[in-house]
This record gives sequence, C-alpha cells and structure tokens, in this order.
Amino acid sequence: MRIGHPLRALVAERATFRCEYCYYPEEFSPSSFEVEHIKSLTAGGLTKLENLALACSHCNRHKSIKQEGIDPVTKRAARLFNPRTNSWSKHFILDRTTGIIEGVTPIGRATVKVLCMNDIQPLTARRNLIRLEVL
Ligand SMILES: [Zn+2]
Repeated sequence: MRIGHPLRALVAERATFRCEYCYYPEEFSPSSFEVEHIKSLTAGGLTKLENLALACSHCNRHKSIKQEGIDPVTKRAARLFNPRTNSWSKHFILDRTTGIIEGVTPIGRATVKVLCMNDIQPLTARRNLIRLEVL
C-alpha cells in the first residue's frame, strides 16, 4: 500500500511504528515500513483496518501472500501469526542476549521460519538496537 494512503497513518500509529511481526522500530529502519494485508487480496482479504498490519520490508517480502507455514518442531502446518487476533508475547520470545526471536507455539515457530526473522541482516540490526538499549 502506498505511503499516502489514508489508512497508513492509522495502521502505523496502532502498531506504535513497529513491525507487527518482528517488532523492529520503523525509526531505525533505512526504508519505510509497509502496510500489508494479513489475508492477502488474492485470498479474498479486504483493505480494512482489521486485515492490515504494519510490516518491515523484510517480514513483508517473506510473508508475501502466505497464510501458513510448517512448524519445525511438529512438522505440521500452522497458520501464521495474526497481529490483529494473536498476542506477540504469547507466540514469541526475544532473546536479548542473542537477538534471536524464538517462536514458542506452532504459530510462532512457523512464522519465525516463513518470515526468516533470524536471517543475518535483521538479526544484526536487532542486536545493535539491543546494544543501544532502544529495543
Ligand atoms: Zn519485521
């Protein structure tokens, strides 16, 4: 969704200007965050506040139109984290020593894997913010 869209400000403020998947703060990102459809338009999702989330470009690019992934522990399909209906702290833990985001439920683990949340680039950026005490 383009930057000037009227819903963008509402989505960004609701998200407190953080990626709703990896919790990275937009103010420390080199690129503007994106408004993504939790349920994609191609899957019948609507451009309404309850179906929109603020996402960093890394999470948005990897999520794309995906709705589910494989939980690496159970090897079973699990739907992806929904920022509108799921609580972040119930599904994820941020290890402040390593910077790694760990999924603690099938939804959390599948989402960490599909969104590649611990790839070296977002992991390094997250570690730096932890070291600077802004995350
Ligand atoms: Zn993110």
